[in-house]
Amino acid sequence: MNIYDHTLSGLAGVLKDEPAFRAKQIYKWLFAGTAVEEMTNIPKALREKLKANYYTDLPRIYTKLVSKIDGTVKYLFLMEDGAGIESVVMPYKHGLTICVSTQVGCRMGCSFCASTVDGLLRNLTAGEIAGQVLAAQKDLGKPIRHIVMMGSGEPLDNFDNVMTFLENAMHEEGMGISARHITLSTCGLIDGIRRLEEKHLKINLAISLHAPTDALRRRIMPVAKSTTVEALTESCVDYFRSSGRRITFEYALIRDVNDRKEHAMLLAKLLKKDAEFHVNLIPVNSIREKAYQKSERHAVAEFAEILKKAGIEATVRRKMGADINAACGQLRKTVLDETKGNSK
Ligand code: SAH
Repeated sequence: MNIYDHTLSGLAGVLKDEPAFRAKQIYKWLFAGTAVEEMTNIPKALREKLKANYYTDLPRIYTKLVSKIDGTVKYLFLMEDGAGIESVVMPYKHGLTICVSTQVGCRMGCSFCASTVDGLLRNLTAGEIAGQVLAAQKDLGKPIRHIVMMGSGEPLDNFDNVMTFLENAMHEEGMGISARHITLSTCGLIDGIRRLEEKHLKINLAISLHAPTDALRRRIMPVAKSTTVEALTESCVDYFRSSGRRITFEYALIRDVNDRKEHAMLLAKLLKKDAEFHVNLIPVNSIREKAYQKSERHAVAEFAEILKKAGIEATVRRKMGADINAACGQLRKTVLDETKGNSK
């Protein structure tokens, strides 16, 4: 077991023969990113026992790319079993934000996304998700106080591990990151959204919507076959009501697929609800496996304008790390393909 998979109470459970304060001491060290051998106030014998009983390493950096344009850093980390996963750190005015992966690959099958091309390999454990934050923080020598779960994988398809990760991310003695600095992005698994709501965590929710109608959404996102955009947006109204957090809808603009004026009008109509909704427009990143093209600049501006006129808040996402393959799953895929010897 990865030692970072433990919650504080889990750790206290396995250390029940130790003095009561021990678990908290170790937990604090762990989520401050300190290696077990450097936990100076922990007896050597106990440190050795932990090393013997657990996997205690942070993810290993396999590739690190730094954008010359905006300082975005992209990591390809190697897990204990050799699985490769990506994380991206973006320097914003408000501090560093990390985009973490929650699964190795993904089984949602969205047609524009590189993470899903080879399907799902496995879930990441809570500790492997936390490890991305801790390893990046250690490498950069600066605190990371904002987390978005927008890397590879569908967080609500790995619900329990993500919840454990969140507990440790938000715990005062853990990473101590506030709920309002954490965003979970989902392709819209409604049962998961309801379960998340019941946890009352008050984290931000982002929905990858990408289409205003069921017919179009089903064409580009297989997950849409088991639900409707109406049911999805209603579950968001409920999440907003119970959390008080504004909901973001992500909409990747694909030329001639979902970027026409009528799509913008239908989207405005769909999102006209009694809740704080925000649309994030992202000109789609072309991936090697698909022929999708990003929308033209004027189409993006026009789309945003229609939403705004209809009273829906919309922003166009600033593209970061354009020179380092920073979009979802691209780096992992490129490196995997190259090591398999079939790069193009
Ligand atoms: N499974 C989750 C989180 C991972 S995807 C989700 O679906 O939200 C993170 C975001 O990147 C999603 O909004 C996803 O739709 C978007 N995305 C994936 N591939 C993209 C591409 N090629 N161009 C633009 N956005 C993309």
